[in-house]
Amino acid sequence: MSHVFPRHCRAELPSAVAGDGCYLIDAQGKRYFDASGGAAVSCLGHSNARVRQAVKDQVDQLAFAHTGFFTSEPAEQLADLLIAQAPEGIDRVYFVSGGSEAVESAIKLARQYYLEIGQPERRNLIARRQSYHGNTLGALAAGGNAWRRKQFDPLLIGVSHIAPCFEYAERQETETPAEYGRRVADELEAEILRLGPETVMAFIAEPVVGATLGAVPAVEGYFARIREICDTYGVLLILDEVMCGMGRTGHLFACNGEGVRPDIVTIAKGLGAGYQPIGAMLCSAQIYQAIAEGTGFFQHGHTYIGHPVATAAGHAVLSEMLERDLMPQVQERGTQLDAALRDRLSQHAHVGDIRGRGLFRGVELVQDRDSKMPFDPALGLAGKLKAAAMAQGLICYPMPGTRDGRHGDHVLLAPPFVMEESDADLIADRLSAAI
Ligand code: PMP
Repeated sequence: MSHVFPRHCRAELPSAVAGDGCYLIDAQGKRYFDASGGAAVSCLGHSNARVRQAVKDQVDQLAFAHTGFFTSEPAEQLADLLIAQAPEGIDRVYFVSGGSEAVESAIKLARQYYLEIGQPERRNLIARRQSYHGNTLGALAAGGNAWRRKQFDPLLIGVSHIAPCFEYAERQETETPAEYGRRVADELEAEILRLGPETVMAFIAEPVVGATLGAVPAVEGYFARIREICDTYGVLLILDEVMCGMGRTGHLFACNGEGVRPDIVTIAKGLGAGYQPIGAMLCSAQIYQAIAEGTGFFQHGHTYIGHPVATAAGHAVLSEMLERDLMPQVQERGTQLDAALRDRLSQHAHVGDIRGRGLFRGVELVQDRDSKMPFDPALGLAGKLKAAAMAQGLICYPMPGTRDGRHGDHVLLAPPFVMEESDADLIADRLSAAI
C-alpha cells in the first residue's frame, strides 16, 4: 500500500521512473510524450545534461546557506541574468520555491510598499475572474474562481474581481477587437473609482491566461490601457507569469511580447524546468528603494528562499535557453503545432477553438462547434480526456470549464522547447485520437 497522499485520492497513477528528452517513462517501460511539460514546467525536456550537471556540482559545492546569513554565487548569477532580460524598470529579484510563494510575495510587497511610502489605506487588490494565481490562502483569494475559494472562506479581505480579456468568448458582434479591449480594460478604472483610488494597492493579471481559460492572450491595446489606468491612479501592476513566462510564449518575459511593463512580475515553473522547485518575484527599483530606504526589511520570507541548488538549476536553465537561442525556436515550433492542431481538429465536432502563443496552446472542447455550448461539468470530461490521452502515450493538461456555464473544458499544451518539428504531428495525432 502506498503511503503517499496523492491529490486525486481515488486515482491509480503510474509510477514515473525516468525521463528522456520530451518523454517520461513509467515503471512498465511505457513512454509518454510530455506535451504539457506537466503543467508548463519541463521546458527543456527531462534529461538536459547541462542542468543535471549544474545541480550535481552545486550539491557537491554547497547545498544550503540560509539567506539570513549569506548570499550565494548561483543566486547572484541567476539574478544578474534575469535582470539583463527583464522588462524595463525591473531591477531586483526575490527568489522563492514556487509560483504560489511568488504571488504571495508580490501581494505582500505591494502592501508593504504603500506602508513604507505613508499610504497605509492602500490595501485593496483587484484581480480578474476566471484566473488562477496559486493555492496558498492569499494567492487563492486573488484567484478568480469562486468555486475554488468558497470552501476556504474567509480568505484575504479586500480582493475584488473584474472581467478577464477573452475576445473569442466575450466580444460583442457590434464591437471591434480594439473597442472590446478598451471596454473590458475600463472595468479596472470603474472598480478603482468604486473602491476609492486611495484604497487600491495593485491589480494582478496573467499576460496570457493559462490554466483557467486555456492559453488566452488579451486583444491588442488591452494591456496598454491597463497600464495607463494603473499609472493614473498610482496602482501597482503585478503580472503573473508563473505559467506563461520563461519563454513559453516565445518571449523570455511574456509581458515583453504583449507590450506591457509591470511593476512586479512573478515567474516559477519553467525557471527550474522541473529540475528544482524555484520561483521568483521581480520588482522595480522604485519599490525596492522605498523598502531599502524605509524600514530596510521586507516583512516576508521562507526558509528556502534563494536556495543555492535551486538557483544553480535556474541559472543553468536560463543559460541554456539564451545560449541555444531557443526563443525563435519556440515561435517556429509554436506555429507548426498550431498548424498541426488546426489540421487535425478544426473540423472536429467537439472542438470550439484553438488558440495561444508560442508553445502555449489551448484547445477548447464544446458540445458542438456551431453553438459552442460547453459540456455539463458533471461529465468530468477533463479527467476522462487526461486518462484517454495517457492511454495514447500523451501527457496533456485538460482543465474543466469555469463552472459558471460560460466557458467549457479545454486542453492546455505546453511541450518542451526542444521538441522536433515532427513532434507537432505526433501531439496533434494523439490528442485527436484521445478526444
Ligand atoms: N500563478 C499561475 C498563473 C499559475 O498557473 C500557477 C500554477 N498553475 C501558480 C500561480 C501557482 O504556482 P505553484 O503551483 O508553483 O504554486
